[in-house]
Amino acid sequence: MGRSVGILGGGLAGLALSALLAARGHHVTVYERDQLGGKLRRLEVGGLTFDTGPSLFTVPQVWRAYLDRLGEPDPLNLQPLPGGLGQYHTPHGPVPLPVPPGHALFADWQRYVRMAAPLAPHLLTLLTTPPRLTDPAFLRASAALFRVTGPHLTAAAWLRARHFPPALSHALATQALNAGLAPQDAPALYALLPALVGAEVMRPARGMGALLEALKDSAAARGVVLREGEAVTRISGTALMLNGTEAVRHDLLVSALDPVRLAALRGQRAPSPLARRTVSGVALYAALPEPTSLPATSVLPPDDFRAFRAAVRAGEWPSSTLALVHAEGRRLSVLLAAPATGAAVTPEHPWVQAQLRRIEETLGVPGLLASAQAVTALPPAHYAAGGHPGGALYGAAVPPWRGGPLHPQPYRVAPGLWQVGAGVHPGGGLPAILGGALLVDTLLAGTNGR
Ligand SMILES: Cc1cc2nc3c(=O)[nH]c(=O)nc-3n(C[C@H](O)[C@H](O)[C@H](O)COP(=O)(O)OP(=O)(O)OC[C@H]3O[C@@H](n4cnc5c(N)ncnc54)[C@H](O)[C@@H]3O)c2cc1C
Repeated sequence: MGRSVGILGGGLAGLALSALLAARGHHVTVYERDQLGGKLRRLEVGGLTFDTGPSLFTVPQVWRAYLDRLGEPDPLNLQPLPGGLGQYHTPHGPVPLPVPPGHALFADWQRYVRMAAPLAPHLLTLLTTPPRLTDPAFLRASAALFRVTGPHLTAAAWLRARHFPPALSHALATQALNAGLAPQDAPALYALLPALVGAEVMRPARGMGALLEALKDSAAARGVVLREGEAVTRISGTALMLNGTEAVRHDLLVSALDPVRLAALRGQRAPSPLARRTVSGVALYAALPEPTSLPATSVLPPDDFRAFRAAVRAGEWPSSTLALVHAEGRRLSVLLAAPATGAAVTPEHPWVQAQLRRIEETLGVPGLLASAQAVTALPPAHYAAGGHPGGALYGAAVPPWRGGPLHPQPYRVAPGLWQVGAGVHPGGGLPAILGGALLVDTLLAGTNGR
């Protein structure tokens, strides 16, 4: 029988789960304090439209599994991004990922791909299946993961044991930043991502905003009530206070918020106040006067991961950070990994300027950003406003054995109160967000939400 479900937070996770629960006959309302979409939103800069937040749509089989469960065709028209994961400008030389045939590193790349191959058929299971030791599919997938990673818990340890040439090793280590962590802290699985993702680095033909539209449409088509500008200000059992004035009761609540935020709403202390944070970022969106000839994606890893890790852990600006640069016509977007301190910096900040000079020198485009007609920066303060403490992009930094696919997380916080989203599915990019929605939908169906 359909129950009344309140979802707190209308980011991608809350929206994705809302349609799944409505498809099971529940009466679902999503409460969003600001705009639906959370980290993904449309921004106008110098007359051009940018989609903020996620830029690479990887592991699209999770999205297809999501659509299969809803019984819907794919509205996104996902297109491979030219150049795949991009050109990695490591201190040991440039490396394109995936490494193409004919490249000096191609033989090493093939050796690497062969190592990861036994895991590829299990990636979808790892991302979408509740981590239960009684589930044979989960056990098979976990066994495949352990066979490939061996005794190495972290991306750095796995790479050290493989003795790849330094440039390839550095480019692969950079993938740890997809979990918001240095390679010394990220699960070994992250070093395997380029092999597992392969050529399937995608983007909807109409931009990432199309994903938000698709999620909103499928929720609305199933009768989900979407309430924007409605901040949840208190939670007691399965009752909510909205904007401090309106009381609402549901049979079941699902939080798609950061767990620290959820704890505060319940009048409790943060779950683990000592937890370290994943990195935050300074995203810059620039409207250029002319189309650039830069490749679609260029990546400048930190020169030295140890120094980078020490700086972000200490809440200091790393002297060389990860820079992810996307170019498309006159649109240029840059994401700089930054410590999760909630800082409110502008494009003129000396650290931002120093990182932009590094990008311009490395890519051979002096003065590129200075030539922009308009630039908007989204700093850690922006990501902190409705997200994780300090603006951490992926929430708390959990130990490697709890990160990635093994995620034994508190999906059920209390009777009638569940969690979904980046805060409870660490490493939370789109595959983890969508996979986490499938996973929580499965768990809820099994328990009828109690
Ligand atoms: C700059 C950047 C680049 C990224 N790049 C990639 C990428 O290339 N590929 C990829 O896969 N992933 C990427 N990600 C990660 C991905 O965007 C996120 O994991 C995902 O959007 C998180 O979704 P979410 O719903 O869990 O959280 P959020 O988007 O943070 O949603 C939480 C929502 O809760 C709302 N909220 C908070 N408090 C309340 C309250 N009290 N009441 C009601 N509502 C509330 C917030 O306003 C927000 O809308 C990137 C993220 C960022 C920021």
